[in-house]
Amino acid sequence: MLSDRIVVTKGDIVELDVDAIVNAANNSLLGGGGVDGAIHAAAGPQLLEECRTLKGCPTGEAKITSGYRLPAKWVIHTVGPIWRGGTSGEDEMLARCYRNSLKLAVRNGVRTIAFPSISTGAYGFPVDRASRIAVREIADFLGKDSSIEKVLIVCFNERAFDSYSRALEELVAEKSHD
Ligand code: ADP
Repeated sequence: MLSDRIVVTKGDIVELDVDAIVNAANNSLLGGGGVDGAIHAAAGPQLLEECRTLKGCPTGEAKITSGYRLPAKWVIHTVGPIWRGGTSGEDEMLARCYRNSLKLAVRNGVRTIAFPSISTGAYGFPVDRASRIAVREIADFLGKDSSIEKVLIVCFNERAFDSYSRALEELVAEKSHD
């Protein structure tokens, strides 16, 4: 069942004991604020050292590193779009972040993975729109792949939690009518 494999939770992504956590990074991959800053702080300086060797990451794509001091074995760094009003390809770029992160996860044998709410902090993507894109991409991917057991969507505040919970409920309801 789809609804057993996608779980919306509240909390701090750095604490999760999953195979991989996803970082909402920037193009440089050299650290930043928000969830990126929290992940680097918790993983320790070796994470930045490895990130330096990656030479950045284009928007919508993903790169993987070790998790170092994190409970997670891997960090998948993806770069979400900066919100520019919605007519500059932001939706498709955000969708690609989820798709490419999941592809990279599968290639590395990941079975449990946690996503933050990509692009909805400093990058300003409206959370209701982002949450619908996120759950749809994750569900579409899981429909075609059976190696990933669980995808957590980790919300850092109540607003995001409500939005992702509702988006998931709506998707599950829609799928049950198919
Ligand atoms: P972006 O630049 O992609 O918008 P941000 O890090 O600014 O990335 O915000 C993305 C989301 O991550 C926001 O909803 C923010 O509240 C959330 N966030 C910040 N810190 C954490 C954390 N430690 N764990 C999970 N989510 C977090």
